[in-house]
Formats: sequence, C-alpha cells, structure tokens
Amino acid sequence: MQWKGRRQSTNVQDRRGERVSRAGGNPAVTSALLSFFLRSSGKTKLVVVLIALFGLAFCRGPMLQILGFSSAPSTTYVANASDKEMKAYLSTMMGDNETVWADILPQYDLRFRPAQMTIYAQRIDMPGGYADARMGPFYLPANETIYIDPSFFTEMKEKFGATGDFAEAYVVAHEYGHHIQNIMGRLQELHSSHGKVSQRDFNRHSVRVELQADFLAGVFARHADTTFKQFLEAGDIEEAMRCAEAIGDDRLQQQAQGKVVRDSFTHGTSKQRAYWFNKGYSTGDLREGEALYSLPYDQL
Ligand SMILES: [Zn+2]
Repeated sequence: MQWKGRRQSTNVQDRRGERVSRAGGNPAVTSALLSFFLRSSGKTKLVVVLIALFGLAFCRGPMLQILGFSSAPSTTYVANASDKEMKAYLSTMMGDNETVWADILPQYDLRFRPAQMTIYAQRIDMPGGYADARMGPFYLPANETIYIDPSFFTEMKEKFGATGDFAEAYVVAHEYGHHIQNIMGRLQELHSSHGKVSQRDFNRHSVRVELQADFLAGVFARHADTTFKQFLEAGDIEEAMRCAEAIGDDRLQQQAQGKVVRDSFTHGTSKQRAYWFNKGYSTGDLREGEALYSLPYDQL
C-alpha cells in the first residue's frame, strides 16, 4: 500500500505525551477493580482485550466512570522517528477516509462530518472515564472520536499474525465505519435497544452493526483505490481479509477458551467478517450493506 505524500488530516491529536493519574472516583473500588484485572490469568486478560477489540465504547462506560482517571502533560515525552512516522501514517489514513466519505455520503443524501482521532499511549482520559490500551482501538460516539494506541498494531502482528500496513488501514477504516454508522443513525438504534431487549438479541444486533462496519471498510478500500494513485498493491485485500478472519468471534473464543459460544458473539465469525468486508469492496454500494439488517441472523 502506498500512503506517503498524500494529505494528512488535521483532526488527529497526538496525546502520547500525557501521563494519566488517578483523579476522583472511589480509590478503594478503583484499586480493587484494577487488581482484579491485573491478577486475572493471561487467558482472561486476553478475553477482555479481545472482547474490547474494535468494540463500541458505550458498552464500557460504567466501568470507566468508576475508575476515574485524568491525564496531565508529561515533560519527559519526546516523539522519536517511529512515533512521528506513525502519526503521519494515521493522519494520512484519517485524511483518506475524510476524502472518500465526503465524496460518497452525498450520493446517498447524507451529510458528511469528519471524525476525530486521539493517539495515546497506555491510558488516556476521555469523556466518561479513560481509554486503556488493553481495550484495543474503538470509536466513542459521544465525542465522535477514534481512540488508538499504536502498540495495538504490534499486538495484532504478534498475536493474530495480521501484518502489513493495509491490515492497519483496515482497522482505521473499520473504526471510521462506526463513525459513518453514527451519521446514518445505526449506532443510536443499537444504543437505545440496550436493556430493552435480551442479551442474546442485543449481541445479535451488535453483530449486524460490527459486520456493517467491516462492510464499510470494504467500501472505503474500493473508493480509495479509484481516488488515490496506487492505493492498493498486490496482496493488500488478502491482508485485510486475513486480518478480518483472524479477529472473528469464533476464532478468538476458540483460542482463548477452547470452545465457541455463538450467543455471546458481538462481532461475527471469521467467515462473516471476511465476507462482509469483501462484499463492501466488491460492490462499493452502501445499499448492499443494508441487507445486514433484513437478512435472518443465520443467513448473515
Ligand atoms: Zn467495531
């Protein structure tokens, strides 16, 4: 994938220099919860991280609030060459998403507004609590911001074998897809059903929303490839498909707990994630993704 030399978005904040300290919250509850998390086995931790992977931020709200951290600028952080390169890469990806979606949405009578991105290291405060690297990247509808700790990309390579800068672009495009869903009203629908339907039905709704974000990442890839010179190179789509396959609920559950519990899926199987990404890529048409909300659940 070629990315250097294109416009970089100005909607990216690099907050890796900020230290996070405890502020407010209940110190006893905070330390109890944190020590529970830190004492839990590698497998449990992995499950926590995997559940959060690409997850929707509002599910984690209450936990974040209890923990109550806040950030302060650190005087010791100096960005090195690879930090600067990562910021340039992410800013270019955000710029690409802005260009593509500002072009596509009006074709469907939708008005585009850009998302924000916060790059952080380890932990950062955000409205309602704090973001922790162990959650993986996510989109917070409340402030329309994608939170990402780039160390996730290293983890993605080491744990899931998802390599290449297009696999990383897929992650950004999936999160940007949640922002597009926010504009389309799909996130509000999911959010407002919380507590009103059974957990099983909520999870099924969540799977549809997540698969649509994969679909939108595919739509982005197709349009980006016709908009920018040499955007895709041989093997890039396969890279994204492998990444989508590596993070399916079935594969992650199998790895983490040795079995698969279908009713607890929130993101879809490996096969479904790769299928819907590819459907977005091959059609490039937002209407094709609407089938996700009318197809019977077992036919997704
Ligand atoms: Zn997601």
